[in-house]
Amino acid sequence: MTDIHIKDAQVVTASGIQHGEIAISDGTIDAAGPASSVPTPSDPDTVIDADGMVALPGAIDVHTHMHDDELFPDGIDFASQTASAVAGGVTTVIELPTQTPVTTPEAMQEKAAACSALAHVDFGLVAGNVQDPDIDVAGIVDAGTADFKTFTADPYLASDASIARLMRRVGDAGGTVRVHCETQGLLDDARSAIDGDEPEVYMDSRPLEAELDAISRAGYFAEYADCPLHVVHISSGSGAREGDRFKSRANVPVTLETCPQYLAFSKGDVAEHGPFLKVNPSLKSDAERERLWDAVQDGTIDLIGTDHFPTYRETRDVGWDDIWEPYAGLPGVETMVEFLVSEGVHEDRISWPRLRELVCAAPAQNAGIYPKKGSLQVGTDADVMLVRTEEYEVTADGLTFVGGWTPYEGQQWSARVDTVVAGGEVVAKDHEVQSTAGRGQFLDRPL
Ligand SMILES: [Zn+2]
Repeated sequence: MTDIHIKDAQVVTASGIQHGEIAISDGTIDAAGPASSVPTPSDPDTVIDADGMVALPGAIDVHTHMHDDELFPDGIDFASQTASAVAGGVTTVIELPTQTPVTTPEAMQEKAAACSALAHVDFGLVAGNVQDPDIDVAGIVDAGTADFKTFTADPYLASDASIARLMRRVGDAGGTVRVHCETQGLLDDARSAIDGDEPEVYMDSRPLEAELDAISRAGYFAEYADCPLHVVHISSGSGAREGDRFKSRANVPVTLETCPQYLAFSKGDVAEHGPFLKVNPSLKSDAERERLWDAVQDGTIDLIGTDHFPTYRETRDVGWDDIWEPYAGLPGVETMVEFLVSEGVHEDRISWPRLRELVCAAPAQNAGIYPKKGSLQVGTDADVMLVRTEEYEVTADGLTFVGGWTPYEGQQWSARVDTVVAGGEVVAKDHEVQSTAGRGQFLDRPL
């Protein structure tokens, strides 16, 4: 384990930004703050001159799909995807099920073991996708997660009664239910009115009202069941407002997540990007996108995750001819921080402390791993990223992601993740990953 001394950094705190230093030994933070308060390590193995770069805790992405042997092709696995994470400053991921269910303690243990062998970053798991609520909730909690994912829409649609019962059982156990909120009946009806197969029609198949209705009902279900609720990937400002009603009136915690793609794009962008913006929920109007930025600014949205979903470019290209063919979902773990700094902080939409809240502190709290993760408190895990200001054009070639594409291709950004430290070791520099698969640890997340 090395000792690292980071000098001449702009350290982001909960309330501001201060010039200072960070001292790290044995994988933990020894000190972080003004130089006068940080004792100089006697003989550090590594001195990093940050040269005025901004220092933040490593980011936590609470919504990723990275490991599914039944679904993902060769080369897309937990090793390549967590490498992509660490290249972009994300030093912890929470992995959600995709196609392969994780609804038993044994499946949890197996997935934790399989991912541990491949992980570049520390990770936690979510159980799901729950359709039958009569699962071994206590056993799954013992196996390392109190987070359960369920859907109000295909292909993992759970009935209203199943969601209510799951929430009662998880609420009793002290856990949280994460809900994909789009009402299937409205999706069915919207789809029935469409006969084309060009990319633009996909947006019409997933109307805003499907999201609003499902968020509202998830709120009432959580209230009824006394179960903490986390609403994943909210795609509209109106959706955020809908969820916000339950933060004040519900007897249980309600947390709201959005993703960079809903802040970066609106449905008008699909004409240019086609299947490379196919995502669920679908993109909404420009006005909803602006309202969503407002909700990110004012704290209505609690945190940002990515819903990272990896595919190769070729499997997406077929969607130009038939948008119904490719799987929905976008890669985003590696670009989250750079997008939010470039388009958020540098465009004066959010402050550095607000960014720290959105991608470090709040996600760590949501995942039950704060302040071990998401802070620079003394004695916590030494996960740190340095971000530099630099104008550049985003290209898939400039990323570690193996899929060969990014929805942000060609955009002009102004922030680059420079150096990433995880567990007290330099693990990435300029998107070049220096860690090895298997260094990441499974985060058993007790209640
Ligand atoms: Zn997802």
